[in-house]
Amino acid sequence: MISERLTEIYQLLFDRFGPQNWWPGETQFEIITGAILTQNTNWANVEKAIANLKSAYLLTPEKLYHLNVPELAELIRPAGYYNIKAKRLKSFVNWLFQNYDGQLANLKNLDTNQLRAELLAIKGIGCETADSILLYALGRPVFVIDAYTARVAARHRLIEPDADYEQLRELFQSNLPQDSQLFNEYHALLVRLGKEFCRPKARCSLCPLEKLPHTFNSEYF
Ligand code: SF4
Repeated sequence: MISERLTEIYQLLFDRFGPQNWWPGETQFEIITGAILTQNTNWANVEKAIANLKSAYLLTPEKLYHLNVPELAELIRPAGYYNIKAKRLKSFVNWLFQNYDGQLANLKNLDTNQLRAELLAIKGIGCETADSILLYALGRPVFVIDAYTARVAARHRLIEPDADYEQLRELFQSNLPQDSQLFNEYHALLVRLGKEFCRPKARCSLCPLEKLPHTFNSEYF
């Protein structure tokens, strides 16, 4: 039942919005950098910070490993919270060098759960960031949860409104095929839905999910 509903939602979103072509980025490391920088800011600001790193020829794990935090912070200033984010980026790179010889390729044979646990142990990397790295940079079948996903799932009565991150991740991961391409597209479509229709004040009348059972008038999410 739930799996059918989730599949129906996906199909309705894909039919309306089409492919979202996530995640923008030319390399795995650029995607990881974007996932860390996008916390609490909009994507346009992240793009400016990434452009600064690119034009300084510093967007590789090795270059960032040898860069000090104040210099990195200055380059990523447009992304906001740049001192904190510089430390987070350095923490990720330090973990990569201390454990995997600085090579993203060395993560390839690691079990996804082990890799997820290691990412979550890095200071400043939370669930959404870790799962974005796993899915969009490393191609692992891990469903990314965010506020948009939580809102849609609760309003469509797929889960209790107070469900936590892991309960939401379990809802999607256990009821869909373990397909990273599907998870990639599904999350991107939910973000589009949340931005255009399922806002705090829902715009149900023209929404692609309007015909499905839902609660639209909730002040809780
Ligand atoms: S806007 Fe309304 S119909 Fe669309 S996803 Fe949100 S609650 Fe559902």
